[in-house]
Amino acid sequence: MKFIADGMLGKLTRWLRMLGHNVKYSDKLDDSQLIMIAKKEGRILLTKDLKLYQQATTKRLDALYLEGKTEEEKLAELAKRFKIKLEIHMATSRCPKCNTIVKPIPKEKLADKLEKSTFTYYDKFWECPKCGQIYWQGAHWKRIRKTLETSEKIFKKTRNEK
Ligand SMILES: [Zn+2]
Repeated sequence: MKFIADGMLGKLTRWLRMLGHNVKYSDKLDDSQLIMIAKKEGRILLTKDLKLYQQATTKRLDALYLEGKTEEEKLAELAKRFKIKLEIHMATSRCPKCNTIVKPIPKEKLADKLEKSTFTYYDKFWECPKCGQIYWQGAHWKRIRKTLETSEKIFKKTRNEK
């Protein structure tokens, strides 16, 4: 299952990548390019644009029109439609910036790359092999968990609705 997201879904793209999904995103692609790539690469089109959604479905493309206002609502819609698990597993998690699967990196290698407090408090780190971004489950991780928990609650509430 691979996705392509329209220019309005940058934030959702980052969430999906963290959840381990392959998502192509650029805010420079127009509607016909999005449809062309979706078709060529077998990607499911995610969009906030009803017209684009209708265009895609007339062309028999797999697409989802996202109605949710918040990221939590949108994630719940994805969970409902595609059975996406709302949990992050670092072994399959992708770099939110560039869609590459992140790899664990030994702490020792990061001594001069991190702030001292980060280096002191955390032991597990991941690096994106493509863009070099370093990740760790720091203070922001609580917020990430909270968002996913809220999404899960919305999903459970709505999963039996049509
Ligand atoms: Zn990256």
